[in-house]
Amino acid sequence: MGAVHWPRRAIWRRQPRLRSPSLAIIPIRRAGDPVLREKARRVRSVDSSIHKLIEDMWETMYDAPGVGLAAPQIGISLRVIVIDVPDHEPIALLNPEIVKRSGERQVDEGCLSVPGFRGEITRSVKVVAQGTDPLTGKLVRVRAEDDLMAEALEHEIDHINGILYIDYLPGPEALIPMSDAPEVNR
Ligand SMILES: [Zn+2]
Repeated sequence: MGAVHWPRRAIWRRQPRLRSPSLAIIPIRRAGDPVLREKARRVRSVDSSIHKLIEDMWETMYDAPGVGLAAPQIGISLRVIVIDVPDHEPIALLNPEIVKRSGERQVDEGCLSVPGFRGEITRSVKVVAQGTDPLTGKLVRVRAEDDLMAEALEHEIDHINGILYIDYLPGPEALIPMSDAPEVNR
């Protein structure tokens, strides 16, 4: 992927020195909160406030726990996302966009902003996303196919455009209450 990687969850948790005392777990905004419906602003410059935001996002995401988070979910209307899924390095991206997508598949999706529910929606099979790596300031591309990363890229980039996965459901009756099955939230 070419990105400089942030520490994986296990390392993050195991090594307290990687966690600054100023890190914060931020309350996650829920569907109905207007910030989740805004088209988030572009990040114009990468400074320490952006790095702090990303660290808070990792902390909040891992605490939830979830596999992805977008800044509007913690009340910050900026185009910033973080994702940590199996078989891919964790990534944080600024101003991410989907540059290519193809195919269709059914996925069982959940969202930290819609707790307690999941729903079956259609996502792409192949996804190529592009965004700025917050550590290097360079543009990077992330490619994913038929896996959780492909789904998470579309899900998180939807978030910064004010879209929730529930928008793809025919109606609220299509929401499925979470069972005891392992859940994946983002
Ligand atoms: Zn979500």
